[in-house]
Amino acid sequence: MKTYDAVEVEALKKADVEHFLHPTSSITRLMERGPKIMAAGKGCKLYDVEGREYIDGTAGLWLSALGHGNAELAEAAREQILTLEYWTAFNEYSTVPTVKLAEKVASMVPIENAHVFLTSGGSETNDTVFKLVRYYFHNKGYKSKEIIISRQRAYHGTTYGALSATKLPNFHEGFEPLLPGFDYVAVPYCYLCPFGKEYPGCGLECALDLERKIQELGPDNVAAFVAEPIMGTGGVFVPPAGYFEKIREICDRYEVLYVDDEVICGFGRTGKLFGILHWEATPDIICLAKAITSGYVPLGAAVVSEKIFDVLKQKGTFPHGYTYSGHPVACAVALKNIEIIERERLWENAARMGGRLLNGIKERNLEAVGEVRGLGLMVGIDLVKDRATKEKFPTPLGARVIEIAYENGLVCRCLAGDIIQLSPPMIITAEEVDRIVEIVCDAIEKAYQEYT
Ligand code: PLP
Repeated sequence: MKTYDAVEVEALKKADVEHFLHPTSSITRLMERGPKIMAAGKGCKLYDVEGREYIDGTAGLWLSALGHGNAELAEAAREQILTLEYWTAFNEYSTVPTVKLAEKVASMVPIENAHVFLTSGGSETNDTVFKLVRYYFHNKGYKSKEIIISRQRAYHGTTYGALSATKLPNFHEGFEPLLPGFDYVAVPYCYLCPFGKEYPGCGLECALDLERKIQELGPDNVAAFVAEPIMGTGGVFVPPAGYFEKIREICDRYEVLYVDDEVICGFGRTGKLFGILHWEATPDIICLAKAITSGYVPLGAAVVSEKIFDVLKQKGTFPHGYTYSGHPVACAVALKNIEIIERERLWENAARMGGRLLNGIKERNLEAVGEVRGLGLMVGIDLVKDRATKEKFPTPLGARVIEIAYENGLVCRCLAGDIIQLSPPMIITAEEVDRIVEIVCDAIEKAYQEYT
């Protein structure tokens, strides 16, 4: 592993502050404390430029199935670069890995006779999908079916289309006007239910909110509903049993397309190959990215059902695409990555290790932990001041918790101020999970003592 001396480290940090405009970061904190520059990774471990070791408790941004430094993926990329580094998929061209990946993804998803459009990530995928659903209805003759409904606290990306479906306050402020034709319904956040109800007596009020919204907007104006199976960035919310079945029923009743954003959940993270497989609901469109390549190279996919492809076929064209749609190197890496996920049955490890992580945190029975929830390797810890009343600290505890954890060798993340995200790579071992539990729980305890 390459090492850096103190002078090199200082120069790197200075250059970062002076020239690198970070995505979704606090510029104030960066100016005060400098950047955290990573130099290397192996498996679930990361090493910064000063040589400190960390457990990767977030799999980057929820993305890595295989962890860092996988030699098989490196070889797949190398081989494809030397064979054919790029060719376009515009104008009826294709490449061998592009075709094979489309075929492979179509064979895996819970949509029959699926057709796969390739992009470079989640936001591009969602933008593609929002254009697709409008194009679909316009070409079917439903000229007014344009509105896309997502949920409060949703994160679907940051390009203008994706951002308009994202509903986290900080992301909208100052970027208005967003795209017209987007609206929002309640999130299934059972711990702090937006309707003040309790499952199952609630009658799935959060799902029925979609029906209410469609009626309010007029079914003739609504094109699609988009949701993650388990909402990630919004705070790790696992919908109750029956939620997506109800959503599917409502979408069918009003001829609204159901878009399943599996950008985080796809390829095994939740303990099944796709998050939606935890419910009995078949989407019309599935959005994929992140674990499709374990993040080794950028890639995303919008997967559509036959009924949508039929309309495109009748129209005879779909005038939308990116230079990197179907990039052969990204597709070759994705194929190898999926081969390894299937060979190692990594979704089973995600289920086992996710359970261990969840139970490990529960067993510590910490005063500041209102709820630990999740499915597979998507775990959220809701921090509170008072467990009985669910009261939150006026200044959220989360930032301090992740700071202490980082000092002790764990990268974790804070969502919406007071929810700690844990989502390590899907290859994580029991020993590494136990270490995550120890570091994060100690950090919560310490931060809580400081605040009280
Ligand atoms: N959709 C979901 C559910 C996501 O979590 C994300 C990113 O975290 C996106 C879409 C956007 O993906 P990207 O950052 O690759 O554009």
